[in-house]
Amino acid sequence: MRQLIIIGSGPAGFTAAIYAARANLQPLVIASSVEVGGELMNTTEVENFPGFPEGVMGPDLMQKMQEQAEKFGAEIRYDDVTELDLSGAVKKVTLGSGGVEEAEAVVFATGSAYRKLNVLGEDRLSGHGVSWCATCDGFFFREKEIAVVGGGDSAMEEATFLTKFASKVYVIHRRDSLKASKIMQDRARANDKIEFVWNAEIAEVLGESEVEGVTLRDTVTGQTRDLALQGLFIAIGNDPRTHLVHGQLDLAPEGTIAVDGRSSRTSIRGVFAAGDVIDPSYRQAVTAAASGTVAALDAEHYLASLADAGQPEPAEDQLVEA
Ligand SMILES: Cc1cc2nc3c(=O)[nH]c(=O)nc-3n(C[C@H](O)[C@H](O)[C@H](O)COP(=O)(O)OP(=O)(O)OC[C@H]3O[C@@H](n4cnc5c(N)ncnc54)[C@H](O)[C@@H]3O)c2cc1C
Repeated sequence: MRQLIIIGSGPAGFTAAIYAARANLQPLVIASSVEVGGELMNTTEVENFPGFPEGVMGPDLMQKMQEQAEKFGAEIRYDDVTELDLSGAVKKVTLGSGGVEEAEAVVFATGSAYRKLNVLGEDRLSGHGVSWCATCDGFFFREKEIAVVGGGDSAMEEATFLTKFASKVYVIHRRDSLKASKIMQDRARANDKIEFVWNAEIAEVLGESEVEGVTLRDTVTGQTRDLALQGLFIAIGNDPRTHLVHGQLDLAPEGTIAVDGRSSRTSIRGVFAAGDVIDPSYRQAVTAAASGTVAALDAEHYLASLADAGQPEPAEDQLVEA
């Protein structure tokens, strides 16, 4: 049996692997079969990860993190976790290839998925004008005309934030009223650079190698028209990838995995969670990496306590308050 299995290969999973491997825990990272490296594999330049004043391509950054983890002895498996049994002292991890791995501790770092529009051009132009993160990419849109899709608080926040850079920000919403809180709506409505496009949904993102516009479909009349744009921010929600632990780990009201205070300890002893899957607010590469550090250190302390005691002891501080 292994000491530690890490599920996920984004900044949280690989950073947890670096720390755990350096602590001699010889972690096994289940990196996924198709999305090794996590969400930064879907982007081009990352300009806000410390240590890279010239910026770094998302896939290059993740490749470096993987190399660093492997250098210290982490084993990377290109496979998917299909089932988890976290109930006993021995955690059982079933893989897509059919095998079952066992460990005394698990770090769960499966990230979260931004909701997509699922329209033509969206995937192709991701990182080339289509973005899901204003904090990450707003800086690239200085003096450009862009749009935000969505009608909730995060869409209003993104739109307002983006007016610091863009010359004009359209907010495209499929209804004629917003579901955002009044204060967020008021702030957006009072901003001269923001123009609302009501009852409109995006039928296609236009452009060869960069976003050049969108085709809008009127949700009332069905009529279509093109709108010229240089950037499109999609802010229609985010789903933490928690389906594997439903019914096993406690979730927070936001749908993320509940952890005990600033730690990574979940509601089950020996199971730790890190990165965007526990984070309803910040969702950045550097915060995910930091969270991976916390998880590795918590797991290390837990494993040391098992070794000291010979047997796991129930501990008050391992329980997440309801
Ligand atoms: C297009 C885009 C651009 C971005 N740009 C920036 C930026 O410039 N700067 C910045 O700080 N942040 C940026 N972000 C946000 C950043 O990518 C995330 O905050 C960060 O990747 C979260 O790290 P994570 O490790 O928690 O999750 P993720 O990176 O999402 O990684 C999760 C990992 O878990 C794996 N996984 C999930 N389910 C399973 C399973 N069942 N079995 C095995 N593996 C599984 C996935 O395959 C993936 O490898 C961007 C996000 C996107 C989408």
